[in-house]
Amino acid sequence: MAINQRRAASAALLLFTFTASAQQYDLLLKGGRVIDPKNNLDALRDVAIRNGRIAAVEPVINSAEAKRVVDVKGLIVTPGLVDIHAHMFHTTGQADAWAGDNSIAPDSFGPKSCTTTMVDAGSSGWRNFETFRFTVIDRAKTRVLAMINIAGLGMMTDAAEQMDFNPEEVARLALKHKDIVVGVKSAHYQKPDWLSVDSALEAGKKANIPIMVDFGFFLPERPYTELVGKRLRPGDISTHCFRGPVPIVDAQGKLYDYLRQARARGVKFDVGHGGGSFVFRNAVPAVEQGFYPDSISTDLHTGSMNAGMIDMVNTMSKFLAMGMPLPEIIKASTWNAANEIKRPEQGHLSIGAPADIAVLRIDQGTFGYLDGFRGRLTATKRIGCQMTIQAGTTTWDWDGLGGVDYKKQGPNSGNRPVDHVILPK
Ligand SMILES: [Zn+2]
Repeated sequence: MAINQRRAASAALLLFTFTASAQQYDLLLKGGRVIDPKNNLDALRDVAIRNGRIAAVEPVINSAEAKRVVDVKGLIVTPGLVDIHAHMFHTTGQADAWAGDNSIAPDSFGPKSCTTTMVDAGSSGWRNFETFRFTVIDRAKTRVLAMINIAGLGMMTDAAEQMDFNPEEVARLALKHKDIVVGVKSAHYQKPDWLSVDSALEAGKKANIPIMVDFGFFLPERPYTELVGKRLRPGDISTHCFRGPVPIVDAQGKLYDYLRQARARGVKFDVGHGGGSFVFRNAVPAVEQGFYPDSISTDLHTGSMNAGMIDMVNTMSKFLAMGMPLPEIIKASTWNAANEIKRPEQGHLSIGAPADIAVLRIDQGTFGYLDGFRGRLTATKRIGCQMTIQAGTTTWDWDGLGGVDYKKQGPNSGNRPVDHVILPK
């Protein structure tokens, strides 16, 4: 090779190397207010993503270093929301035979509400959990995890949840499917004994995972104070914590001491809003007296999504309206929630973490929120889901912030290559 050719070749190589490192990031979110509670961060930061992971979080990252840049000035960048109470066992085509509790499809509802991790809270039991895994969980793009119902058929009907408890089988499946099983669920139990809760506890101990209790029917024989005061272990979760029958305040409006004592013991209080499991009458005084939920979750199903609950960001907006500080709301919807299900790799924006990101906006105006019983609260702010990024891929983009002016796209934009056309033979 002549000297000149060699020089040209090495110059080309140098240029190639320079270009590659110059655009070392796949995506750069520029100028947003980053709230990342795990890392005690609440400041203006640029966030860069590479290979589906968080690559850099800095005050300024040069736009030239990224293949794509999205301007998120005026918006809030947080870890992707983690909803630890939803229902997704919706197996199409055999709904009557298998579906649990008015379930929804994870990818239909996660992205548009900035939710990147959704936990199915016991729609399936130990008899049908594997069907749920193979038909729904493994097919979803949204990160779907599950709590197995202590009752064999899960939430097929209320009657099914009164029987067929099998701690051994639940624990065996939880260990076999460790990659996705994060807890055991006891729910909708109507009898005056503790059999459902105690069976779930036994399974939780065997598999070393938390249990989540939907206390169902509140009966004098098994008081809620005993559930959170004695039965639940540290790390176990009481969902529907602002449900109507939960004793929150005394006749003078003062928060009951047993709640703070249970929290000090390590019991977690989860919102699980649902269709009828959240009343402002309970939530407002609790928040006013500083008793915030540990985690904010939806109890998403076909009933709650079309009623007062709506979605994750609407549920978070209610807490903003009640006076809970925004960073606390973000924490309860990301890092706290990830910790409750023992998934510390989620719910934060540390370098190397999966690039699951929510870009939120705060709208100003006049808004109204409904609880489960038409109780209404008005407010001047609403949290909206602007953009969702799941493992580095944009899955929701409300204003097309990640798009380019169509006039700059050239005359062939949108034309598919011929080899994509499949003709009949
Ligand atoms: Zn539920």
